[in-house]
Amino acid sequence: MIRSPHRMTTTVYLVGAGPGAPDLLTLRAARLLEAADIVFYDALVHPETVALASRAVRIPVGKRHGRPSTPQAAINRALIRAASRHRTIVRLKGGDPMIFGRAQEEIDALHAAGIRCEVVPGVTAALAAGAEIGVSLTRRAVSRSVTFVTPSVGDREARTDWASAVVAADTAAIYMGAGEAERVAAALLARGMAPATPVVMVENVSHPDRAAQWGTLAGLPRLGARWSHAPAIILIGQVLQETLDEFRRLPAAAPAPLQAGRLVPV
Ligand code: SAH
Repeated sequence: MIRSPHRMTTTVYLVGAGPGAPDLLTLRAARLLEAADIVFYDALVHPETVALASRAVRIPVGKRHGRPSTPQAAINRALIRAASRHRTIVRLKGGDPMIFGRAQEEIDALHAAGIRCEVVPGVTAALAAGAEIGVSLTRRAVSRSVTFVTPSVGDREARTDWASAVVAADTAAIYMGAGEAERVAAALLARGMAPATPVVMVENVSHPDRAAQWGTLAGLPRLGARWSHAPAIILIGQVLQETLDEFRRLPAAAPAPLQAGRLVPV
């Protein structure tokens, strides 16, 4: 049962907005948006989703590479300040708030300030991408593990070994990697991943202008070179092989999930 936020004490809700399409939102998220007094939303959130918060003050706090952005510390402070003036505060983030969303920093700052906080999950880009291309990320006898990684590191952040995690997994979803496709491919090939491993780069997942580029690990730099700078996720693994083969055989008459796709030859 979904509790009415009105009966609760002041709460900051970290809410997942899903990958983009407004109807990929959870009912809980929609109800909280309708009840919100104030909403802080990310750049990737669809305007129709933000508009559900019809009675709220709506504040953009977008963070996109290469554009003006609100520093994380300022967002944390704004949430704390809002909690002293409002009852239902929504922090709306793209996808799932807990996947590459810096949610923990906001949770920690709110807890340190003694403010109640709840998280509402959302559909993360990797899962929406699998749905879009019609390929299950796990599959009997082919893939029993899926890893979510990013090669992107922030300032003063320790460099962890994302590439080994990809090599160890049956299927990998690489976030924030499209702009570094060459480096991603080089790192994976250097660790012994087969150059023929199937790859797909899916841009603008769940939006009308979505597009998928299919290829192999060896061809990943070429996929990256055609990247449109829209949000893009890279999926890698054998689960993609059948669809890649099908695509190679029938590029002109590709089945529905592939219609938005392009094959990049290697
Ligand atoms: N919390 C988000 C991820 C934030 S990091 C989630 O769970 O999905 C931002 C990265 O997510 C982008 O660089 C891209 O790699 C991926 N992403 C987000 N939305 C996307 C979309 N609609 N299509 C493709 N990739 C997307």
